[in-house]
Amino acid sequence: MIKSMLSGFVRLHILHHASLESIYGVEIIEELKRHGYRVGPGTVYPVLHQMEEDGFLIAEKVNVEGRIRIYYQITEKGRQVLSESKKWLRELVEEVLEEDS
Ligand SMILES: [Zn+2]
Repeated sequence: MIKSMLSGFVRLHILHHASLESIYGVEIIEELKRHGYRVGPGTVYPVLHQMEEDGFLIAEKVNVEGRIRIYYQITEKGRQVLSESKKWLRELVEEVLEEDS
């Protein structure tokens, strides 16, 4: 249960950051850690890959000092999903957190 909830948050997070700038795996893992998510490459890489397959992200291989790094950018479809999700998220936050206070 917690795992499947978390994966939604992780996806949304990835979409959000990819909408701001190109991201790569290690960077997103660090960012998620900063937010208190304990996720590693075994979680994040398959998610990035799946999101690429779903057409939400587009991958680009970049040579960084002799090593290939895969950068992900949000696609138009990804942007649509993100803005739709924000609508749901806003409503959810209002309802769930409202009842808390
Ligand atoms: Zn973040």
